[in-house]
Amino acid sequence: MKVDQGCIACAGSDTAVHTEDDWLVVSRAEDRLSHLHIKQQLNEAVAARRQECAALTAELIAFPTVNPPGEGYREICEFLKRRLAARDFTVELLRAHGARGDSDRHPRWNLVARRDGASSGECVHFNSHTDVVAAGEGWSVDPFVATITEDRVYGRGACDMKGGLATSIIAAEVFIDTVPDYVGAIEISATCDEESGGFGGVAWLAEQNRFAPSRVQHVIIPEPLNKNRICLGHRGVLWSEIETHGHIAHGSMPFLGDCAIRHMGAIVDALEQQLWPALQQRHTAMPVVPESARRASLNINSIHGGLEEASADYTGLPSALVPDRCRMVLDRRFAVEESLDDVRAEIEQLLDGVRAERPGLTCTHRELFSVVPTLTDKSAPVVRAVAAAVEEQFGAPPEYVVSPGTYDQKHIDRIGRLRNCIAYGPGELDLAHQPDEWVGIDDMVDAAQVMARALLALLAPN
Ligand SMILES: [Zn+2]
Repeated sequence: MKVDQGCIACAGSDTAVHTEDDWLVVSRAEDRLSHLHIKQQLNEAVAARRQECAALTAELIAFPTVNPPGEGYREICEFLKRRLAARDFTVELLRAHGARGDSDRHPRWNLVARRDGASSGECVHFNSHTDVVAAGEGWSVDPFVATITEDRVYGRGACDMKGGLATSIIAAEVFIDTVPDYVGAIEISATCDEESGGFGGVAWLAEQNRFAPSRVQHVIIPEPLNKNRICLGHRGVLWSEIETHGHIAHGSMPFLGDCAIRHMGAIVDALEQQLWPALQQRHTAMPVVPESARRASLNINSIHGGLEEASADYTGLPSALVPDRCRMVLDRRFAVEESLDDVRAEIEQLLDGVRAERPGLTCTHRELFSVVPTLTDKSAPVVRAVAAAVEEQFGAPPEYVVSPGTYDQKHIDRIGRLRNCIAYGPGELDLAHQPDEWVGIDDMVDAAQVMARALLALLAPN
């Protein structure tokens, strides 16, 4: 066997170190080396597009896609369509006709773009929501004219999550340019209504089988969970409405009526005395962040009783009435250790207890919305691919977290039945929905490099 200086195993050696039988080992070593080289190319290509990533984020922020009511969905989808079609994506604009929230005045438009590789294989799907919450007060810059500084992009949605959307587009484009003969497909979706439950967005797409196993195998949602964290899922939620009924009468003779607000007061008292202390003791093993959310929780979302609140320009006094109706919305959050049925039953039992103490109380309990907790397994392929890329990028394994609130993963899991799904994206969650929201440009570059390398692991394995 001759020494082959062109061979990785023999180079620099006086004696031949490989035989024909060793050829496989040598070729694997070459594959690894070429992968290393490609990773470096991906990193450099992403870094070279740092300013472009910031500029794309700014362009997306300029669409004031405020939800509710759901403005500008078509316009932002048209913009993304022009960009992605120019990169040989097959782009569809899809309106969620008839979905909750959809109307001719505020149509629910979504975009799905797909680019197939050189041969068929698995599909990696990036899903971002295009809607943002209202700007609110307290901004020092225009929320819909993005301000780009040396290291940040400011604007409504910069962090949640137009920065994440731009990051995934840059990552996908760089990957396609660098590894044009990849195996499988890349999909990018831009969907509406995440901030109001996602029914006209991801839920609707999932109902149209857009996340069917034959189409999509891996999903990454670039929500702002921080560039070194992988979010595996979220807690469950039960939103429900309790309504107490009384009897209307003149306020000067309350004994002739029955005050619905006093009945509600008794229910609030029972929540305070019984449910809150019990929930405080209910800890979860799910790695929810922040840590204070690693237990069951309850929020009273609203209470309305008596007369409608008068408009600001009304200068008269209210009328004297005993309120005959009071409504309260509860927001109960729970982890995998509790079942949705148990959560429902617990509130029903509490109401039974109050009814027993207050003869004559009539109240109803109506569910508004519920989602069971979601938790992707750490051994799932998309988790492993992103975790390896994070570790290479930052020299430490990712922190695995669970979100206290739900996001669109719930629909991909529950309707799409796709469990190989995570949230991973740049930005700090605490900044979401705040005035002067921003995303770090270096964070976007880091996250795009991680995403590009995750694509390499999933679509060009050696
Ligand atoms: Zn978001």
